[in-house]
Amino acid sequence: MEIGFIGLGNMGAPMAQNLSKAGHRVAGFDVAGVTVEGVETVGSAGEAAGGRDAVITMLPNGAILRSVFEEIVRNGKKGAVFIDCSTVDVESARAAHELAEKTGLLSVDAPVSGGIGGAAGGTLTFMAGGSQESFDAASPLFDIMGQKAVHCGGPGAGQAAKICNNMILGISMIGVCEAFALGDKLELDRQKLFDVVSTSSGSCWSVNTYCPAPGVGPSSPADNEYKPGFAAELMLKDLLLSQQAAGAVDAATPLGALASALYQSFVNDGGKGRDFSAMLPHLAEKGHGSG
Ligand code: NAD
Repeated sequence: MEIGFIGLGNMGAPMAQNLSKAGHRVAGFDVAGVTVEGVETVGSAGEAAGGRDAVITMLPNGAILRSVFEEIVRNGKKGAVFIDCSTVDVESARAAHELAEKTGLLSVDAPVSGGIGGAAGGTLTFMAGGSQESFDAASPLFDIMGQKAVHCGGPGAGQAAKICNNMILGISMIGVCEAFALGDKLELDRQKLFDVVSTSSGSCWSVNTYCPAPGVGPSSPADNEYKPGFAAELMLKDLLLSQQAAGAVDAATPLGALASALYQSFVNDGGKGRDFSAMLPHLAEKGHGSG
């Protein structure tokens, strides 16, 4: 296939490279002038999109996505599928779908889970929204870049699933960090707490797979001085998107709101650039009533 790839950052570059390694011809564009081995560099987003069978965007936010889509849909080849893998607000995702549909293109919002490691290893999970025809057209590319793709529903459903999942993740990580910080002050050995919780009703991904306590549980960013991984500011971004969505549809998400506030204060207070599980040392140094 002829594929255009727009946004060759931490995630986009390895994803584009995997498509190229699988034998597709990939033309890439990034405003920062990034070049990627195996990917032909072109001079604009419009050029990356023009005449391609599939166009993938992997961009920082909804405002940028909308402006890029305004530019690229005009160049779209009839029947081409436009796949947006960025994490953006549901409204912007729907606006991108509308722009694509108006010009007779297939479109999918397909944010990912799995981070930079998943992008490099081709093991991402895609959460997709759009028509069945669009999902089917995108599926062979999901198979290359990832290990699982779930068709969640119509336009915007992928973004909705992503922010719901990450709201759970942000809340659960804070809960796990609080429990370890409390355990410390109760003089409970962290390994013993892990042994109990990971096989009890408190078990969850944040304990069992991504334990925030260094030296405990499977290898995680905690064992690498909390280098991300999944950076705290990206968790904050997703939590704020969950709150934007909750406000738009009048949904009660009190813990989502609190998790957003806690990650905001963590990011402001030295957490930027650290893994989101570094919430544990952040909380462990505080006292009761200061959280
Ligand atoms: P990034 O900042 O490394 O990459 C974004 C790239 O887009 C940058 O290289 C930037 O120069 C480029 N860009 C910005 N405006 C552009 C434009 N108008 N035209 C072309 N290129 C443009 O970010 P990332 O970590 O690769 O994340 C990309 C998206 O994936 C984000 O929406 C993020 O929330 C989401 N995401 C990231 C992770 C992660 O672990 N990094 C995990 C899941 C989802």
